[in-house]
Amino acid sequence: LEEKVTGWLGEMIGLPEGFHGVIQDTASTTTLCALVCAREKTTAYGVNAAGPDGLAGAGALRVYASREAHSSVLKGAKIAGFGAANVVAVDIDESRAMDPADLEAKIAADLADGLVPCCVIATVGTTGCTAIDRLKELGPVARRHGLWLHVDAALAGNAAILPEMRWLLDGAEFADSLVLNPHKWLLTNFDCSAYYVRDPEHLERTLSIHPEYLKTGRDREVNNYMDWGIPLGRRFRALKLWFVLRSYGVRQLQEMIAGHLALAREFAGWVDEAADWERLAEVPVNLVCFRWRPAGVDEAQLNRVNAELVEKVNAEGTIYLTHTKLDEVYTIRLAVGQRGTGRQHVDEAWGVLRKMAGEMGGR
Ligand SMILES: *Cc1c(COP(=O)(O)O)cnc(C)c1O
Repeated sequence: LEEKVTGWLGEMIGLPEGFHGVIQDTASTTTLCALVCAREKTTAYGVNAAGPDGLAGAGALRVYASREAHSSVLKGAKIAGFGAANVVAVDIDESRAMDPADLEAKIAADLADGLVPCCVIATVGTTGCTAIDRLKELGPVARRHGLWLHVDAALAGNAAILPEMRWLLDGAEFADSLVLNPHKWLLTNFDCSAYYVRDPEHLERTLSIHPEYLKTGRDREVNNYMDWGIPLGRRFRALKLWFVLRSYGVRQLQEMIAGHLALAREFAGWVDEAADWERLAEVPVNLVCFRWRPAGVDEAQLNRVNAELVEKVNAEGTIYLTHTKLDEVYTIRLAVGQRGTGRQHVDEAWGVLRKMAGEMGGR
């Protein structure tokens, strides 16, 4: 069933031929697996962890991700022995996507210093503001240098079930591994991460340990998923994804996601039109980043004012908002992603925001 549902999901998001899926608990775990696979590929199964700080200086293995990448990249690098210091923060462009030219430059600089480039982690839909790293441009850089390319599409990858959103994963053919989380935006209860790899044998070689008590007569006949991830025992996560896919069907799931995208765009339009509000990022999928910008309040006060607004809105209790900082700018985030969320809820959210802002009286 796990082979079946990961196959279906791969087709739904238009994944290129040649990927094999496995379900893991979280995207963080799959990123760790990808890092370990990258490490073993680079070192030909030779080197093991150097400790939480990794190696320093010549010979150190390097991981590249944009500075908007998820915290699981740093965490995975620490656990896998690269060390946080060997995670290179690649510059971002104005859409906050990884800059391929800077990736190339950072790899070249590392090579010149005797460091060993190993893995690129691209993010399709960053956590902060759903910036989309362009796989079509990053892929050739990774390939040219023989680096592992892992694609973290935890949230936004789900939107690729819509044909008009397939562009999100343009260039996925360059990836060695890719993850998306049905538990984030595809109605599947936590936890359920779909991890796709190009070379399952490499994954198995990297992770398999076969003690006598686990040997069966059929080890070579079936995919033995104990070798495709970190835990030995595994939950039957494929079943709940099977239920979701079978009970809704692709069409209804597409309609749900298309509805969320439309609501997010509509909300973004309201923000754009309102004089006292400002949108702070593009809206490629379902997350709108914005802030209140009342006339007469100077820039230095805006972070504090917006933090107070979010606190007030959340205390009011109708909606719950989270925030981030984009270049030190306090940013309110509104995400549309639940089955029951309709236009009236988004409209109500906008109403609450303006009402609470009004009560703060332009401070
Ligand atoms: C949510 C998220 C993660 C972490 O997902 P888990 O499944 O909770 O580990 C990683 N990367 C991105 C881009 C995310 O949005």
